[in-house]
Amino acid sequence: MDGASEGGSFWHKISRLFNGKGADNVEQAIIEASQDGELEAAEGSMLLNILHLDDLQVQDIMTPRTDIIAISADCGIAAAIDAIMDSGHSRIPIYRDNRDNIVGIIYAKDLLREAMTPENHDKPISRVMRPAFFVPETKDVLELLNEFKTKKTHLAVILDEYGGTSGLVSIEDVLEEIVGDIEDEHDAPREAEIVQLDNESARLAGRAHLEDIDEVLGTDLDSDEVDTIGGLLSHVAGRLPRPGEEFVLGNASFRVEEADNKQVHKVLARKLSQKSADSRESVSNA
Ligand code: ADP
Repeated sequence: MDGASEGGSFWHKISRLFNGKGADNVEQAIIEASQDGELEAAEGSMLLNILHLDDLQVQDIMTPRTDIIAISADCGIAAAIDAIMDSGHSRIPIYRDNRDNIVGIIYAKDLLREAMTPENHDKPISRVMRPAFFVPETKDVLELLNEFKTKKTHLAVILDEYGGTSGLVSIEDVLEEIVGDIEDEHDAPREAEIVQLDNESARLAGRAHLEDIDEVLGTDLDSDEVDTIGGLLSHVAGRLPRPGEEFVLGNASFRVEEADNKQVHKVLARKLSQKSADSRESVSNA
């Protein structure tokens, strides 16, 4: 049994420290201590974030499969150096045949020596490949944090229930859940996922999370099947929607502004008056 599940959940351990107060009371105590100034706002929010790690699975925080920078095992050292230089990532998964079959990871550190030896640039990347660490997408984030510690590795490949690649989680993704966004030296500023245009409308990235949209627009998009607005519109349409298509879901309309044959990139969301919202889940072409 590992540290995350030994002796009950993290919440239970903390609430024991707080003399058996329930989870809600511990949370309330932290909120009150922040409001009273006993805790700095940043300390309070970090404590709450740590407590809420208990509710998160790795699939909630992973970099999704479509964003993974990976290269084929057929590539040589030179291609691996290019991938690291172009992406700015220091670890690159290696796949054989397709991305569902990740066979190892290369590390920038290991490539440095090869980079200095031009006669090695055509050699296969298997020379410097290390084993990948695989975890299922339903693993608890706290458990993963423990495994990162014990296995002395800081990157996990996330597998879906069929053994396909679902995403990547690094220790930075876990830390961000506690301390908020960490900007790397090489991080390009990421486009905001939700840009509120006015009280009634917002421009959404296809990857914007449903619960965040609900919070900003007061919609009720929550879905058991998908997490993002791009995923939801594809789910409703039963295929990838095209630019110009509009969907009415509950009390809002969602017009696809940009999409290609793999992903929905941009969506314009508008709250509807009650009358026009009456036909739920209708789909129309522009
Ligand atoms: P790095 O500094 O190499 O980018 P970090 O561990 O600091 O690695 O992770 C920063 C972010 O980049 C995290 O969100 C992580 O999931 C993501 N990431 C790491 N490696 C890759 C990769 N090869 N492809 C796509 N995303 C990656």
